[in-house]
Amino acid sequence: MMSGVQHPTPPPDPGRLAAGAPPGIEVRAHVPLARHTYLRIGGPARYFAEPHTLDDVARLIAWARALPVAVRVLGGGSNILVADEGVDALVITLRRACGATRFDGTRVTAGAAVMLPALARAAAAEGLSGLEFAIGIPGSLGGALQTNAGIGDGRSIGPLLDSVEVLGTRGTRTLPRAELRFGYRESSLRGAGVMVIAATLQLGTRPRVAIEAEMRRLLAARGASQPTAQPNAGSVFRNPPGDHAGRLIEAAGCKGLTVGAARVSELHANFIVHDGHATARDVAALMHLVHQRVLAHAGVALVPEVEWWGPAPAPPAFPAPPAPQDD
Ligand SMILES: Cc1cc2nc3c(=O)[nH]c(=O)nc-3n(C[C@H](O)[C@H](O)[C@H](O)COP(=O)(O)OP(=O)(O)OC[C@H]3O[C@@H](n4cnc5c(N)ncnc54)[C@H](O)[C@@H]3O)c2cc1C
Repeated sequence: MMSGVQHPTPPPDPGRLAAGAPPGIEVRAHVPLARHTYLRIGGPARYFAEPHTLDDVARLIAWARALPVAVRVLGGGSNILVADEGVDALVITLRRACGATRFDGTRVTAGAAVMLPALARAAAAEGLSGLEFAIGIPGSLGGALQTNAGIGDGRSIGPLLDSVEVLGTRGTRTLPRAELRFGYRESSLRGAGVMVIAATLQLGTRPRVAIEAEMRRLLAARGASQPTAQPNAGSVFRNPPGDHAGRLIEAAGCKGLTVGAARVSELHANFIVHDGHATARDVAALMHLVHQRVLAHAGVALVPEVEWWGPAPAPPAFPAPPAPQDD
C-alpha cells in the first residue's frame, strides 16, 4: 500500500545574489525562467532583477551595458518561448516599478507592468469602455503595446493609445500616438531598443453592466475554444492574410501531433500545450513540424507569433527577427 505521503512543491529557485550589481538593487544570477512564463518552460536568465523604481531600472541598464550583457524586459511571459539553455541576458521585470494605474476623465494612464485583464476590469469599474476585448489576454500593457495585442474581430490596443512613455539610451521620453505605427500583431515599438514604462489610453463611456456582460461573453468564448487548463503561450502562429492559422493547421492534419511532451491542442490547433514536462526543444521542433506540414498541404509559410528567447541561431521555426536599434 502507498504511504500517502504528500511531497511538498519545491520552493521556487530564486538564484543566487549576483556580485558587483549596482548598490541597493537586488540582482540574482542564474534564475530559472520557467516559473515566469505561461508555457512553464525555460532555462535560467544570467541575471534577473525586479527594480523598485525607474531610477533603478536606468541604473541596471547602465550596469548591463558596461558589462556588457544584453537586457530583456519580461512582461507577463505569455508570448515567449525561453530556451532550455536559458538566456544570456539581464532580465528585468517592471512589476514593482511600473504597476500603477490612474484615471483622469475618460483617459487612463497605467504602468507597463499592469496586466491587461486587471486594467480592463478597472476601466469597467469606472464605466469606461474600449478595453473589453483585452479581458482574456494575459499580457502586460508594455508587452501588449509592442505586439499590438488584440482579438479576432480586429480590436487591438494600438488604436486606444494616446501616448507612451519609453526608456531608452536617451533616457525617458513621451511619444505621442502620431509617432507610432501599429499593424496586425506588430508595432514600431518592437525592436526599437526602448522599454515601455507607461502608457495613456483614451477610452469611451458605456454602462458598466454592458461592459461587464461583454467581458463575460468574451471569457466564456475563450473557455470553450481554448485549452485554458494546460500551459500554453496562446496562438503560436500569426494568422496569414485572409485566413486563420488554426484552420490551416487543422486542415493539415496536425491536431494531436506531438514531439516529446509537446502537443498540438485538439481544442484549438493554433495552441501548443503540454503536461508540464515539455522542453523548449520539444515545442520548437513541433512548431517546425507544423510549419512544414502546413507549407506542404496549403502552400502557406506560417510565421510565429510566439517570440524565441534564447541563444542564436534560433531554431528553424523562428525566422531571424529585425536587428534591434538603439533609439
Ligand atoms: C492563454 C493565452 C491567450 C492569449 N490570447 C491572446 C490574444 O487573444 N491576443 C493577443 O494578441 N495575444 C494573446 N496572447 C499572447 C500574449 O498574451 C500577448 O502577446 C501579450 O501582449 C504579451 O504580453 P506579455 O506582457 O506577456 O509579454 P511577454 O511575453 O513577457 O514578452 C513578449 C515581448 O514583449 C516584450 N515586452 C514586454 N514588456 C515590455 C515593455 N514594458 N517594454 C518593451 N517590451 C516589452 C518582451 O521583451 C518580449 O519581447 C495570449 C497568450 C496566452 C498564454
